[in-house]
Amino acid sequence: MLLSHRIRLDATPAQCDYFARAAGTARRVWNWALAEWQRQVAEGLRPDVMALKKQFNAIKYAHPDWLDTDGRPWLRTIHRDAHAQPFANLKKAWSRYFVARKAGQPGYPPRFKKKGRCPDSFYVANDKFRVEGKSAVLPKVGPVALAEALRFPGKIMGASVSRQAEHWFLAIQVEMPDEIARRPRTGDGVVGVDLGVSAATTLSTGEKIAAPRPLRAALRRLRIRSRRQSRKVRAAKAAAGISGRIPKGTRLPRSANQVKGARRLARLHARISRVRADFTHKLTTRLCRENQAVAIEDLHVKGMLANARLARSIADVGFYEIRRQLQYKAQRYGTVIVLADRWYPSSKLCSACGQKNATLTLAERTWTCSCGVRHDRDVNAAINLQRLATGALAARTALPVASPTATSGTVAGMVPAAGGEVTPARYEHGHQDGSGQEEDAAHFCALFDSRMEC
Ligand SMILES: [Zn+2]
Repeated sequence: MLLSHRIRLDATPAQCDYFARAAGTARRVWNWALAEWQRQVAEGLRPDVMALKKQFNAIKYAHPDWLDTDGRPWLRTIHRDAHAQPFANLKKAWSRYFVARKAGQPGYPPRFKKKGRCPDSFYVANDKFRVEGKSAVLPKVGPVALAEALRFPGKIMGASVSRQAEHWFLAIQVEMPDEIARRPRTGDGVVGVDLGVSAATTLSTGEKIAAPRPLRAALRRLRIRSRRQSRKVRAAKAAAGISGRIPKGTRLPRSANQVKGARRLARLHARISRVRADFTHKLTTRLCRENQAVAIEDLHVKGMLANARLARSIADVGFYEIRRQLQYKAQRYGTVIVLADRWYPSSKLCSACGQKNATLTLAERTWTCSCGVRHDRDVNAAINLQRLATGALAARTALPVASPTATSGTVAGMVPAAGGEVTPARYEHGHQDGSGQEEDAAHFCALFDSRMEC
């Protein structure tokens, strides 16, 4: 299992200076390679990343663009990995783009990187560094103190050094043998998790876990700092006699105060992201550790973010990250993660009788079903999701090798007989990937069963 451990580096100022230069080199080489690629395409050639790399190696110690003012090749002061890896990254970026385009999905071609507008990072290959307790020996800079020792035993596959606000971090990729990566579970629960907006996360047990919503708390501060920053940019623009858009390639002078303000703003953003990461890690670990199956909604995050009124609270809770963490932690704890497809009306179904309340609006936090049961919106949704998890678990034990299509076919045939309030075809219609098929099919089974009990 490939896991990554990101550790803060307690680097000396000289080491930080090297990291910044290495990251800048990586960015510049990427931009060179991308520009060269685009130039070759414009000439009707078919560029190849490995050929580009050869081309670059031929000029990197000789071309005036890559020489110091005193004529020395500055690239020699930076470790090779930092300026070789951008080619591999560019190759990956283009192939991802072409694969997406071939599959008819929206693909995004690689873009130029801009200082201050892209993450600063560079790569170190696994044979070029080593970790010794609480220090890492990195090329060109020697031993750098680590904030903590590497926690994952296994084969080190590589590392990248990156910056967040004023700190540098070393993310080490470790290939851990599965038997070591496995963690013991403390419980065998089955839980549905409703990732809501106002009450944050609701479990089917009725428990509500409020997210710290660090962004909301820090929003006022963020507004003030951002406003101060943009005021300084505006002043610099006025001093340079520019109105409207800043022309491409212009470098506005940055005052000492502007640099200071930018650092402050970056620190605030970094703090927000740390609080958020702490919460999602603790939540997802707990869910995987205590349960044999966890059901969540496969929310259409991008679509929801397009809703301006919901966007901030959703982005603040970090839905996508929660799902990503659940999925990799599930492997370590042997937990089954059930993704309810995004058309599954978890909020609208009555968890007691299975009827669908089609008129339920987002503003209604509680509602009463025609069967007389009064529901808390989020708890009801979590219970419906828990049913999915139960069903998926049952399907897993009963039909270990059943193909997803066979399973959904059978169950889809069963459901209309149950009463017809839910039309499974509609929900199945929305599948983007096959992974949820089996789970969903199992759910209709569970729903069917529960309705029979009512
Ligand atoms: Zn009901």
